[in-house]
Amino acid sequence: MFESLSERLGGVFDRLRGRGALNESDVREAMREVRVALLEADVALPVVRQFVEKVTEQAVGQQVLRSVTPGQQVVKIVNDALVEMLGSEASDLNLDVTPPAIVMMVGLQGSGKTTTTAKIAKRLSEKGRKKVMMASLDVNRPAAQEQLAVLGTQASVATLPIVTGQQPVDIARRALQAAKLQGFDVLMLDTAGRLHVDQALMEEMKAVAAVAEPEEILLVVDALTGQDAVNVAKSFSEQVALTGVVLTRMDGDARGGAALSMRAVTGKPIKFVGTGEKLDGIELFQPARVAGRILGMGDVVSLVEKAAETIKVEEAEALAARMAKGLFDLNDLRNQLRQMSRMGGLSGLAAMLPGIKQVKQAMASGAADDKVLVRMDAIIGSMTPKERAKPELLNAKRKIRVAKGSGTTVQDVNKLLKMHQDMSTVMKKMKKMGGLKGLAGLLG
Ligand code: GDP
Repeated sequence: MFESLSERLGGVFDRLRGRGALNESDVREAMREVRVALLEADVALPVVRQFVEKVTEQAVGQQVLRSVTPGQQVVKIVNDALVEMLGSEASDLNLDVTPPAIVMMVGLQGSGKTTTTAKIAKRLSEKGRKKVMMASLDVNRPAAQEQLAVLGTQASVATLPIVTGQQPVDIARRALQAAKLQGFDVLMLDTAGRLHVDQALMEEMKAVAAVAEPEEILLVVDALTGQDAVNVAKSFSEQVALTGVVLTRMDGDARGGAALSMRAVTGKPIKFVGTGEKLDGIELFQPARVAGRILGMGDVVSLVEKAAETIKVEEAEALAARMAKGLFDLNDLRNQLRQMSRMGGLSGLAAMLPGIKQVKQAMASGAADDKVLVRMDAIIGSMTPKERAKPELLNAKRKIRVAKGSGTTVQDVNKLLKMHQDMSTVMKKMKKMGGLKGLAGLLG
């Protein structure tokens, strides 16, 4: 699931990120490719349209194109729009009522409804430590009630004893009473499916819902049916008050369109996805995680998030401007080191800040861990303000004092000064290359 979409989007963004500067037409071109990729993944056209429009609007904004890393910013914007399209927050079942809480399962035949009923019951009883009972109201399909009983045994979940000849609404009443009397926390009602959406099915469903007054009405649809799954969800949601959707067979090779358009088209959240035939093949649907899997760029996204908290475009530009004039003193270096620490140290840091390559090189010889950042900060902290502004004032005697004051060695102090000098040299080169825009070329 999502593999080919993920691959296509990955290609688009790799190209974007490979470039230092972006202009509006680069972004628009990339968005055209995103549009095609989504359509090929079977995402509903209106959803694609809205998505691309929104992302383009944000991505061609001044803040993005002027930033030090526009390509990464665009990835972040696409990621956030994807998460929103998928429903933002994961939504678990809402069973906070006086027991028994009723969960009603609806859907077409073969969608995986009965299996999913047992999966959710198992999950609730194991993870949620709830006392769960299941009841099948399917009197159309031969052996449907027996199937649920077998699954109940497998899942160690109680099922309502079968009384042959009883009709769905009566079974629902009996189940309710049994669940109340026997102190069950949750009662799951597996309703009958049909091959197509038909009126008799809808009427039966409504009658059961009226008697049971369920907290949750979950529609089970097969992800492999793509846009059909979305259409089925739409029809059902027009008839009953669905509280959520379960997409089954997400372990299959569907293109993902159903998952991507479900929320936007039906207004209902996907609550769970089925990921296999076994009874533990079910997962809570987590929009952020799914978006991450589609883009395959979780690192970039979290990096940009962290960076957004710690540096602003203006700050980075001001720093770059100072550097371009050769005004890169130890205070600037110290600020930069602190920003790096806040962004999760060197390991998590790509080319977010000017000069990072030099810092990495300087540290490659020593222990390349983030403690080095703290040590360098301490060294600069032990200098006088004058020395920070003019490092050449540091003579041998002062270096010994600074080393002592920071709990380091003269060698460490020298290493830091050498690194600062290397960085200053780079800054001067950068000036010749045209300032901020030329910067990208120098960074690794
Ligand atoms: P129902 O007619 O809607 O009640 O469908 P069933 O629950 O009987 O499921 C039909 C078939 O789909 C069974 O063989 C299930 O094992 C299979 N199935 C259900 N959910 C999933 C899933 O998430 N992944 C896979 N691979 N198979 C599933």
